[in-house]
Amino acid sequence: NIVVTGATGALGRLVVEELLATVPADRVAAVVRDKEKAADLADRGVELRIADYDEPATLEGAFRPGDRVLLVSGSEVGRRVPQHTAVIEAAKAAGVAQLAYTGVLGGPEADFDLAAEHRTTEQLILDSGVPYTFLRNGWYTENYTAALSPVLEHGAVVGSAGDGRIASATRADYAAAAAAVLTGDGHLGRAYELSGDTAWSLAEYAAELSRQTGRTITYNEVPAETHLSILTGAGVPEQFARILVDVDAAIARGRLARTTGDLARLAGRPTTPLAETISAALAGA
Ligand code: NDP
Repeated sequence: NIVVTGATGALGRLVVEELLATVPADRVAAVVRDKEKAADLADRGVELRIADYDEPATLEGAFRPGDRVLLVSGSEVGRRVPQHTAVIEAAKAAGVAQLAYTGVLGGPEADFDLAAEHRTTEQLILDSGVPYTFLRNGWYTENYTAALSPVLEHGAVVGSAGDGRIASATRADYAAAAAAVLTGDGHLGRAYELSGDTAWSLAEYAAELSRQTGRTITYNEVPAETHLSILTGAGVPEQFARILVDVDAAIARGRLARTTGDLARLAGRPTTPLAETISAALAGA
């Protein structure tokens, strides 16, 4: 079977949707910790396997010999190494045929704080000997477009990313690539650097917002310390605010700007343009 972890999350759900478009539902399984949250998937014929990354014993029944598995990286930053370790060990013990993992653009070269757990996880997978595919995801466009309210309210995109560029794509784009490696051949032992076809700067993002709203929205570039105090002042917990400021420093260094074409090639279509994601967000705002 094709097994997706984190299947009740935003990315995991989209991967399951992609799979159901081409694979019979009885060949798709979802590893979830909350059965109720996955009731709609069960209704559609997807097998539920209940497991929590924090409880390795629950992962024992999560995988079967020959399964092709997508490990969607966990969302609890700081806890992910032990959590992913438990998943990798369970996948190895079961004898899965493929373990695909959603890491971060740049893989071992990604040198920002948020990348550390992804680097470690990739190494753990390599050390485990399980047949793997690395899906090194760049940034989600939705990281920006899901947070439009304060931008529209203040008429400003605030950041400390300089004129660094971001080759983002939508979750749906990354999901299409993940489904392709889970259903196609020739992906074992490969690492894909997945990113949008076009990289943009925060100034260009502000300009596109201005164009679409008919209002003046500027990019307000601030020093890292100011950025941190703006975020914490807006209620972002300090630890997470520090991570976001560190991400902007990485963007300024060009770490999220790579456009390799891997994502469009795997998805079989161009990635979703920034302008399209913005207009969808504005329509829903
Ligand atoms: P979500 O938070 O929507 O999904 C995370 C999934 O992981 C959820 O299904 C969640 O389960 C599951 N999960 C978390 N902890 C556990 C656990 N202990 N046991 C079992 N399942 C668990 O994130 P997205 O779908 O948006 O993104 C997927 C991943 O991509 C994130 O988890 C993160 O690692 C990474 N990411 C990447 C970004 C990028 O720009 N490239 C931006 C943000 C995150 P439940 O539904 O029960 O909560």
